[in-house]
Amino acid sequence: MAGNRTLTMIKPDAVRNNHIGGILSMINDGGFRIVAMKYLRLTPEKAGKFYEVHKERPFYGELVDFMSSGPIVAAILEKDNAVEDFRTLIGATNPANAAEGTIRKRYATSIGENAVHGSDSDDNARLEGDFFFSELERF
Ligand code: GDP
Repeated sequence: MAGNRTLTMIKPDAVRNNHIGGILSMINDGGFRIVAMKYLRLTPEKAGKFYEVHKERPFYGELVDFMSSGPIVAAILEKDNAVEDFRTLIGATNPANAAEGTIRKRYATSIGENAVHGSDSDDNARLEGDFFFSELERF
């Protein structure tokens, strides 16, 4: 059965470009409920840990530098079929390939600086939620 929670980050590019409000509005309009949310800046170590699965990829260093370059908004979102539906709402990794009406189509600037993160599986949604939030921070 599909899980009902996913983890998102509004990435440093979108925060710098004043898109927090616009992105949260698209998340609300998409039918997601906010379970947990915080505004923070990842250290390079923490960003490296979050993206550890990509360690061997050529863009890993660039990704870690980018994700620790400024504050982000992290949030746990709830909806039936949350992981898949949120991946649909954010659109393709490369905004050039993202469908009309998606968050990345509207707000992302490049394949690296692509405005938002969305978990890619229920297992990762749980791990990523635990990376940012304690039980006391979820409502
Ligand atoms: P996602 O699940 O759609 O976020 O995509 P991936 O899991 O494939 O990649 C994770 C993140 O790494 C992406 O969201 C981008 O921020 C970054 N990324 C992916 N491909 C590239 C690339 O070719 N160059 C750079 N600089 N960053 C990339």
